[in-house]
Amino acid sequence: MDTRASAAPAALPIAGANALVVGCGITGLAAALALSERGLRVTVLERDAEPATATASDAFDHWKRKGAAQVRHSHVFLGRLRNLLRDRHPELLRALIDAGARELRMLDTPPQTMRGLVAEPGDDDLVILGCRRTTLEWVIRRYVLARPNVTLLGGATVVGLATEPGDPPRVTGLRITQQDAERVLPADLVVDASGRQSQAPKWLAEAGARPPEEKTEPSGIVYYTRFYRLLPGAEEPKLDGHPGAADYNWIKYAIFPADDRTFSITLAASLAFPEMKVLARPDAFEIVASALPAVARWVDPARAEPIGDPAHPVQAMGGLINRLRRYVDERGPLALGLFVLGDAAYCTNPLYGRGCAQGFVHAELLAAALERHGRDYRAVALDVDAGARRDIEPFYRASLAADREAQRKAERRVPRGLRATLATRFFEDGVGVAVRCDPVVYRAFVRMMNMLETPEQAFSEPRVLLRALWVMLRGKRRNAACALPPPPDRDAVLAACAALPAR
Ligand SMILES: Cc1cc2nc3c(=O)[nH]c(=O)nc-3n(C[C@H](O)[C@H](O)[C@H](O)COP(=O)(O)OP(=O)(O)OC[C@H]3O[C@@H](n4cnc5c(N)ncnc54)[C@H](O)[C@@H]3O)c2cc1C
Repeated sequence: MDTRASAAPAALPIAGANALVVGCGITGLAAALALSERGLRVTVLERDAEPATATASDAFDHWKRKGAAQVRHSHVFLGRLRNLLRDRHPELLRALIDAGARELRMLDTPPQTMRGLVAEPGDDDLVILGCRRTTLEWVIRRYVLARPNVTLLGGATVVGLATEPGDPPRVTGLRITQQDAERVLPADLVVDASGRQSQAPKWLAEAGARPPEEKTEPSGIVYYTRFYRLLPGAEEPKLDGHPGAADYNWIKYAIFPADDRTFSITLAASLAFPEMKVLARPDAFEIVASALPAVARWVDPARAEPIGDPAHPVQAMGGLINRLRRYVDERGPLALGLFVLGDAAYCTNPLYGRGCAQGFVHAELLAAALERHGRDYRAVALDVDAGARRDIEPFYRASLAADREAQRKAERRVPRGLRATLATRFFEDGVGVAVRCDPVVYRAFVRMMNMLETPEQAFSEPRVLLRALWVMLRGKRRNAACALPPPPDRDAVLAACAALPAR
């Protein structure tokens, strides 16, 4: 790659520059926060209307969020995001906690089969935030849009780039439609944070730019989510050794404690089991949820009642992909002055809960690069690309590897070749067991899941490798004590669902 920086006057300082951000989701807000902190004037363009709600909790019931349909699915916010807020934006973290977000210490609820877990320096970083996605977004939105150099243009849809021709073209603004009128907004730089539906490849093609490299793979699952609220006087149940999340191949579940006495349950079904589509029915959802011992205690009607949109009591979402789009190739940036962040660039299986943390990390990478290189947008693009390859892509690759393995298991394919067989054995009988009983491997896993270390960093540490290997070699009989509680009988559960009256 040609890494030559372009000559002055590009390297003017960035403060005072005018940035347009496409999309007021988590990444757009993270970008507005990070750029406005560095002295840029930021205008965020969002096609969805503003939330007309007075409290974060109301946002869950009333905020129309067509542009980010996932907001009413379970979310958890990883340690990487919580620590970034703690270290850079403590007032924002305080506002989230005041709105009901909970700091959940992961090492407080290890698997019951864990032995010898004692506190270590760094454990204070292993804290996730638990709240509804609407709560998180509503609070961050209020906080960011209150900044003096951030403006929101609501009801504005971006339809293309304004560019000056060249190789590569230079982005000079955005074409937008608002109330049926089209106009051009000029900008010194543009951030695309428009999420999974990003049109950046099309916009670049219209500007005559080279196409981005793209890799897409299905995650292989469908998400089914239902929200609940604890009844007056009821308490959250203890897990008592039942994991808060587990993967039984035909069904995966996770319990998400949230704000304002709410929680949600997500059941994720492999595409290899099309009969699981029945989970979109609330009565079938309850049958399966009640058959999973850990979940049953939460959804017990004596403890909690379902909440949410009565027309869609169970939110279902398919089309969940892993996708990488790179806006820098071997010749450099595809367009000068355009930075594509968050889901628009890297989209991963939501099961791993990385998207929002990744959006914040990506936005910080951009802001730090702008601070370093000023208006030399070629150098900025190369810097952000290098940072994303270092800090984000390892997690994208981990998602792909985990999803391929889950699909292989769901389809009952045996691994091909000696290397794949040994790797599978090591992960299933070594790492997979050790995370339930060995504190060293468990802590490494939790650090990786929270994006505090890349999978390579966490699992290439010799003592982690050796402990996982030792667990594998001590044999299945000894390891049986660390196994997950057994799953419910799939055929019986499905038969109960099939016996439900037709709708
Ligand atoms: C089912 C599901 C569950 C998930 N669970 C988790 C989780 O537990 N934890 C986690 O961290 N992440 C999770 N994610 C991922 C997370 O939701 C995304 O990574 C995150 O929302 C990405 O933020 P974003 O700002 O990049 O995109 P989005 O949140 O999708 O926001 C994009 C915004 O751009 C706007 N927009 C789009 N096009 C235009 C346009 N042309 N003009 C103007 N505005 C436009 C949209 O209206 C939207 O507001 C989950 C995702 C899914 C699908």
